[in-house]
Amino acid sequence: MDLQLDPDDLNICVQCGLCLPSCPTFRVTGDEALSPRGRIALMRQVQNHDAPLTDEILSSFETCVQCRGCEPACPSGVPYGHLMEQTRETLAGAGKLTPSWQRLAFSALGHPGLLRTGSKALGVAQRLRLVPDRLGISTEIPLRSEPLVASGTDVYLFTGCVMDAWQREVHRAGQRVIEAAGFGVTPTNDLAPCCGALHAHAGLTNSTRLFAEKMMETLDPGDGPTPRPILVDSAGCGAAMKDYGHLLGTPEAQAFSDRVFDISEWLADHVDQLPSVAPLDLTAGRGGTSE
Ligand code: SF4
Ligand code: SF4
Repeated sequence: MDLQLDPDDLNICVQCGLCLPSCPTFRVTGDEALSPRGRIALMRQVQNHDAPLTDEILSSFETCVQCRGCEPACPSGVPYGHLMEQTRETLAGAGKLTPSWQRLAFSALGHPGLLRTGSKALGVAQRLRLVPDRLGISTEIPLRSEPLVASGTDVYLFTGCVMDAWQREVHRAGQRVIEAAGFGVTPTNDLAPCCGALHAHAGLTNSTRLFAEKMMETLDPGDGPTPRPILVDSAGCGAAMKDYGHLLGTPEAQAFSDRVFDISEWLADHVDQLPSVAPLDLTAGRGGTSE
């Protein structure tokens, strides 16, 4: 099967294995098929040698959590994230991945009102102990949360979909820190409801492209001497938005991606503008902190 992978990208991997210790699925299982090297070898088998798509091969691709932890560990610069995204896009297009009920669930992510209502219902079910542990939802979903309010137009704070419905307090804390550095913040709230990262991970890359285009239309660069930055406090969303240039392949998309910063990355460049704080008399240790 043609996975539509760039042969040059696929051939960069020299199978050295230096990425294996950085891969969580390999570390947990010790299974070569669940490592970056193993998955790349299977991509080659399928694309170059027409290997049948067995359940084992599909499982190998499906279980990659797309954290990209293997990329910085790779001395050859294999663009693993792009290889896996293209693999999943091809497989989802062929109906081998992402069944229709999952596609329906993903479609809710672009509708913030619907997502908030569904999240509240899930939060109530959590408190009634009706949510099975196997769903792995460790966050306590809030039943209510005050909206974020703009304090200026210096920077956007991207709030996203699930993160905003489930962990808005993280955004609020981030906004306070940015403001403490002297910048006015526009939370994106429902202006740009989703970055499309989860869709890309599920192989629904066309949906991601639509979200990217909407985001580029909505989050204008402003009239200042430098384009208005877009700060992100969810690593997965930030990684997807920094990749819009590659995804859409246009100079405009690349210019948009160049405005996206992880909040920590951006604060590191402005740390001198933060008020000094008294050192905490605490020691961090395995069991938490102690005075
Ligand atoms: S992905 Fe990179 S680090 Fe991993 S086996 Fe291939 S060349 Fe080596
Ligand atoms: S993206 Fe993460 S889970 Fe997937 S192969 Fe790389 S390190 Fe492993």
